[in-house]
Amino acid sequence: MVASARIISNDSLEKIAIEVVGCSLCKLSRSRKNAVPGDGQTSAKIIFIGEAPGKNEDEKGRPFIGVAGRILDEALQKAGIERSQVFITNIVKCRPPGNRIPEDDECAACRPYLDRQISLIAPRIICILGATAYSSILGGKSITQNRGKIIKRKGQKYLITIHPAAAIYNKNLRHALEDDLSSLSQEIKKMENLDRNTILDYIDG
Ligand code: URA
Ligand code: SF4
Repeated sequence: MVASARIISNDSLEKIAIEVVGCSLCKLSRSRKNAVPGDGQTSAKIIFIGEAPGKNEDEKGRPFIGVAGRILDEALQKAGIERSQVFITNIVKCRPPGNRIPEDDECAACRPYLDRQISLIAPRIICILGATAYSSILGGKSITQNRGKIIKRKGQKYLITIHPAAAIYNKNLRHALEDDLSSLSQEIKKMENLDRNTILDYIDG
């Protein structure tokens, strides 16, 4: 269903990005320097969803380019996942003042942009980074109890993991993030093998 929606849609990541950059649907538009729509291609296999842009991201208009971004990049590299395979974005596209947690009305106002990005990309799996994304997308509560789990909701797979910022001063959490991203990498490979076998069965049959 999601894949066919992509084929008939006139929407594009570029169009969404232009709308986000000019958006004033919530009060975060008043304090931001630059909105941060997200980085990556429509062909991405995985969407990573963080919380909100921080100071560096707000300066440059790009997601996960500060310290948390470096930790995420390292974990991706260790798991053998290329940046070109992923799309990275956040629950809200504008930085909350002082990096406070985004409020419910802000998450709700911004949500249609994320939903459009998800339906265009139709990723194999969505990686939830931390508590804000977990509660906003899946209504989940405890990251510590649920990290590392792969779940399926309404036909979409999700991997739940910690926010890279939580791992900045904590080696154990850094290892946890790395472990979870290698599970993610294995899951992608498993799904691709299944698809390949299905195609071969179809050709043989
Ligand atoms: N933290 C996030 O949640 N998102 C970013 O883009 C950067 C830091
Ligand atoms: Fe618009 Fe989202 Fe930015 Fe709010 S956070 S102004 S809804 S782009």
